[in-house]
Amino acid sequence: MIQPNLDPFELAKELSGVHLIDGQLVPSVSGQTFSVINPATMAEIGRAAEGDGSDVDLAVSAAKKAQAEWAKMPARQRGKLIMECGRILEAHAQELGLLVALESGKALRTESAVEASVLADSFTYFGGLASELKGETIPYSPSVLTMTMREPVGVVGAIIPWNVPMYLMALKIAPALVAGNSVVVKSAEEAPLCCLRVCQLLDQILPNGLLNILSGYGPPCGGPLAVHPDVSKVTFTGSVETGRIVYEAAAKKLVPVTLELGGKSPMIVMDDADLEQAVTGAVTGVRFTRQGQSCTAASRILVHRSIVDNFVERLVAKVNEMVIGDPLDEQTDIGTIVSPGQFERVQYYLGLAADTEGATLHRCGQMTTEERFKGGLFVQPAIITGLTNEHRACREEIFGPVTAILTFDTLDEALDIANDTEYGLAATIWTKDLNSAMRGVHELEAGFVQVNQNLVVQPMLPYGGYKTSGLGKEASLDAMLEHFTHRKTVLINLD
Ligand code: NAD
Repeated sequence: MIQPNLDPFELAKELSGVHLIDGQLVPSVSGQTFSVINPATMAEIGRAAEGDGSDVDLAVSAAKKAQAEWAKMPARQRGKLIMECGRILEAHAQELGLLVALESGKALRTESAVEASVLADSFTYFGGLASELKGETIPYSPSVLTMTMREPVGVVGAIIPWNVPMYLMALKIAPALVAGNSVVVKSAEEAPLCCLRVCQLLDQILPNGLLNILSGYGPPCGGPLAVHPDVSKVTFTGSVETGRIVYEAAAKKLVPVTLELGGKSPMIVMDDADLEQAVTGAVTGVRFTRQGQSCTAASRILVHRSIVDNFVERLVAKVNEMVIGDPLDEQTDIGTIVSPGQFERVQYYLGLAADTEGATLHRCGQMTTEERFKGGLFVQPAIITGLTNEHRACREEIFGPVTAILTFDTLDEALDIANDTEYGLAATIWTKDLNSAMRGVHELEAGFVQVNQNLVVQPMLPYGGYKTSGLGKEASLDAMLEHFTHRKTVLINLD
């Protein structure tokens, strides 16, 4: 069994230059690699294999072969192996936390260690659901035994983003495998090594070829995976723009697709809300500790006019206490933005807001002054007041530590503003009044609505967006059955 390696720099080097295909760590067919950086210093920490269509062909062919055998295994036996995967991930949680912190810049204590520690739960949860892959009998006729059966779809292509790379991958591969499928993952170019490590660890338990992972850029590597004729299901998490491309590719083959896309999630704070609870919830909700790089980030906070000054003052004070610095240091609350491209994107929107008449940017948090982080991708969080919902910073996904505070006078107005967006991923409402809470629950156009809290995605809770935030649900038993199985209807004539 592979032993944990608690030196992430060494581990990154060790994992460099390879995909995992058919149980082997292999270089890309082209021999090409690309740089993986530590966004806190911009130093190269390793290189990732640069996959293209030839690597996709090899991985899909291995996956196809392995799936045929895997599907014949009794479901509970598959489930047991998947639960065993959970145990391995638990044993490697510390190592994985360090590696994802180094590679993505997410602070170890507040984000990376947390992501690493919840991975196992997805495998344990879905592994335990293996015997729920049930069909049903239908009372069609006494002389015809009529039933439905669940069958795997085949090879699943999973394309994942970088913000919570290991966990979002786990939410795809655990249910797909339990349901009898094999998987080819295309990792995000910003965080390939941590996901490769997860798959390498799981591969010790799983048959060769059942789980394969490729690194590479979107169009040359993710593109061929989405269009591959032997990939019978595509599950994608990423931006709306790429989601459309993936959807089109799958539509040409007529295979099902799950899309988990972007968001511009509203948080409504009513005048009767517990203010301290709401302010703490806003810190969690904006995902300041993840530099706001979350699809469900509360990037628009709608606060009742009568309490807005108090709310902003308290929120600014709380975020001001946060330490921005070395992602690997346990004292750090907030690490870095993931990549130069993302860094520029955040700066662009901050510039747009700063140039807007009437807008105020409250820049918060204690920024590192360490010389070695001078070129790092650190951004001080910004709480922006004085914008309207029409502003581009309120309409477009920034994916940074930025939130806009908007005001309202009535719940009707708040709901109108909240729903006035192309997105519909998540929403929260903060109030002590049950009627206001229930109006929020019913009228907020979002797939994941919470009252007086801001919990992140859990494996047992169906999760997915309305409007352009996505298609289909991820996580939960329902999602496993709906997205990773075919339903076969069987009629047996008993006459
Ligand atoms: P992205 O769309 O740029 O990339 C996502 C993945 O798609 C990457 O692996 C990328 O290499 C691949 N890709 C890019 N072009 C492709 C193409 N033409 N064909 C196939 N694959 C291609 O997104 P990102 O920047 O990695 O992630 C940020 C986005 O993800 C944000 O919009 C965020 O809201 C969204 N996101 C959504 C959820 C959710 O659950 N709804 C969770 C996390 C992130």
